[in-house]
Amino acid sequence: MPPVSRLTSVLLVLLLGCVSVASSQIPALLAPGATPYAHCQRFNTLYVEIREQTIAPDSARAVFSQVMQGLRNYYRSNANFPDTTTIGGRIRTAMAFPLRGYAAGAIGGTHGEGYRGNGFDLFDYKVRGSHPAQDIFIRDQNQDCIDDRTGAPVDVLAMGEGLVLAVETGWTPGQEYRGGNWIWVYDPVRDGLFYYAHNKVVNVAMGDWVQAGQKLGEVGRSGLNAYKARSPTHLHLMYLQLQPDGLPQPKNTYGWLLTAKK
Ligand SMILES: [Zn+2]
Repeated sequence: MPPVSRLTSVLLVLLLGCVSVASSQIPALLAPGATPYAHCQRFNTLYVEIREQTIAPDSARAVFSQVMQGLRNYYRSNANFPDTTTIGGRIRTAMAFPLRGYAAGAIGGTHGEGYRGNGFDLFDYKVRGSHPAQDIFIRDQNQDCIDDRTGAPVDVLAMGEGLVLAVETGWTPGQEYRGGNWIWVYDPVRDGLFYYAHNKVVNVAMGDWVQAGQKLGEVGRSGLNAYKARSPTHLHLMYLQLQPDGLPQPKNTYGWLLTAKK
């Protein structure tokens, strides 16, 4: 074998070795029968890893899928499911509009055109450009997060019931994180995740169970872009529908917002 092709073979072996090591580095799985709280903790850790880019997108996808399928199975098999709703879609509680005192007129765009789902990747922090969400604006000319008409903060309400998967409460101006103080809620009836971002105050904690219409926090301007003067004060609302494999697919909530209970 000539030296050049021997070198090529050595490089190839090294390369293949690296690939197989990388694909086997999927972080520890949750134990069977793990509690919802353990799933929340795993989700939290994963979310930080994605944000810090210390986990490869493929590994993040695998962990996410496992956490979500675990939660789905937990609620589907749990006779003490803490609600009167029925899994499987036969009975569903009405959705609540996520800003107290506001209605569909506060949604950005005339018909919810602010939603752009294409190109979204929850697992790759470097991917930009999509906006798989609706922004809902409050009356706040002077950007003090106080409603100009009522003189009070505006409550962020849970659209559906569910488990508070994770919250961020420590955002400070100058941090680059885009969501600011956010809240993730897993809704086992709809089998999806609600994400409420840019809050000023967060009133729930990881592992809490919330009802539709329950206060989650207060509208704020937290987050890299939401804090800037060019951004009117708003709630960023995203919903990710879980697929059978546990992976997320963004869904436009505009239709839900139009019919939600005010
Ligand atoms: Zn937004």
